[in-house]
Amino acid sequence: MTIGFSIALIVFVSISSVFLMNADDLIMKNTNDNIEHLKNIDENDHAEIYSGQTEGDMVLTPLQKELLYKGPKHRTGLVNLTRKWTNNEIPYKIAKGNFSWLQEQFIILATKKLMEVSCIKFVPYDEDYHKNYISIVGQFAGCFSQVGMIGGRQILNLAPSEIGVACFKFYSIVHELIHALGFAHMHCASERDEYIEVIEENILANQSHNFQKYSNNVITQFGIDYDYGSVMHYPAKAFSKNNQSTLIPLKSLNGVEMGQRQRLSDSDIARINAKYC
Ligand SMILES: [Zn+2]
Repeated sequence: MTIGFSIALIVFVSISSVFLMNADDLIMKNTNDNIEHLKNIDENDHAEIYSGQTEGDMVLTPLQKELLYKGPKHRTGLVNLTRKWTNNEIPYKIAKGNFSWLQEQFIILATKKLMEVSCIKFVPYDEDYHKNYISIVGQFAGCFSQVGMIGGRQILNLAPSEIGVACFKFYSIVHELIHALGFAHMHCASERDEYIEVIEENILANQSHNFQKYSNNVITQFGIDYDYGSVMHYPAKAFSKNNQSTLIPLKSLNGVEMGQRQRLSDSDIARINAKYC
């Protein structure tokens, strides 16, 4: 092999690795504090908050991070940050040996919940037909997902636990699947300052970045109003260091619970349908 060819090959491989980052390489190592917290998590608390990724549970590509918080360099309307799945079809593969039969059924039930309320279709991954798919694994602490269709294999992790607990709360699984559909968190929406106040002094050390606001024109709400009752909203005490609120609603909650994980709200359903159906 000539030296020129070798150099060209090295350059090609390094450039490729920048653009084709393996999904696993994007996962940040969770902190020991989070891992400890997850072991005895309270039933009103959500495991996805303590999962060590962006805003707790979003695994973002470097480009997504840049766009989400800094905005597009050239403002040409909405950036295609949260890519739609082709033909509303989301192939998924539950990793063998990662979950019990019951846990596997519970994950499938969560995909069915989203299919029931929209036109999207979760289908078992078939390597002969599908290029892009979600690999559902239970290999890491916490629960997290990549956001939107990334291309190729992408990760959604649910740490195995008892049904109804931690990452196996039914609507925490639905929450992660909604990230995979291309939706981010409600409490970071660009219009959030009209609806919530972020109380900095109650936030855990080094966790303020989880309350950054998304820049305009990057995330669309599809014309649907901010919703305290969204399954994508974080609870009042998310990332709290003193059990005091980090998020205070500025308007009436009208009977809904901020940060609930008991149902899909009407606006959650409306957003999914606006994006896909
Ligand atoms: Zn989330």
